[in-house]
Amino acid sequence: MSLKRKVLLIIIDGQPWRVARRLNGNLEGWVQSGAARVWKMRSVLPSTSASCYASIHTGVSPQVHGVVSNQAVYRLKQADIFGQVVAAGGTTGAVTHSFWSEFFNRHPWDFVRDIEYDEPGGPITHGRFHTMTAAGADNQMTPCDADLFATLSMLVDRFGIDYGIYHSCTLDSMGHRFGHDCVQMDNAVAKLDAMLAHFLPLWLEAGYEVAVTADHGQTERGHHGGHEDAQQDVAFYWFGGGEGPDAEVVLDQLALAPTLLRRMGADIPRTMAAEPFLSDD
Ligand SMILES: [Zn+2]
Repeated sequence: MSLKRKVLLIIIDGQPWRVARRLNGNLEGWVQSGAARVWKMRSVLPSTSASCYASIHTGVSPQVHGVVSNQAVYRLKQADIFGQVVAAGGTTGAVTHSFWSEFFNRHPWDFVRDIEYDEPGGPITHGRFHTMTAAGADNQMTPCDADLFATLSMLVDRFGIDYGIYHSCTLDSMGHRFGHDCVQMDNAVAKLDAMLAHFLPLWLEAGYEVAVTADHGQTERGHHGGHEDAQQDVAFYWFGGGEGPDAEVVLDQLALAPTLLRRMGADIPRTMAAEPFLSDD
């Protein structure tokens, strides 16, 4: 058994559509050059981080998986991308906040056991996590994104993972601290976009299709969770093949999981009911 294609999913926590299209100079440059496509994607409700992580990977709504706040963290029952890739004979990697390990591998979190693991049986074959313990407005406790991109690249080089995910709260935390109409956020976005730009070509050369998106947006004051374009709308950049919808179509976040599984050639479970937005060829 082997998968048809390899995919990396890059999740820039809390980056709104309007900010992505205005400030991601490298990502937008690749769209302009024809190397990537971009669509607007709308997050589930609540547009809360944990709720969105769970929906991005299971393709079911918070009303179904039950993650209705950042306090509702437990091992999810629904099938998700990691499990489907491993069931298809592939391997997976995660370089993310520890919530992803708790949702898709095991809960409760054990600092020493779970901070880093290599478990051939999956569902997360190679996990590298961080907790942001004690994060707050004065100290956001986020790792450097270049280090996280490098760690994902290490999993690509060392293990040849079939599916990998990067997720970091850097920009979400910056938005909560400073809002969006400020020099701090301008610089933070530009730096992350530039860091990503050093690694993304390596992944494409290694044969991966790459998706870059966010879990949810934020208002100008840095709020999210609610029902508003500013809080829900994010960019979905796609460096890969397949026929997609017209550029003005707004993508459903619940379609992300079945779309990536289709591209990889893994089975799409019945619980992922949204129609994939990219074709198989
Ligand atoms: Zn978030």
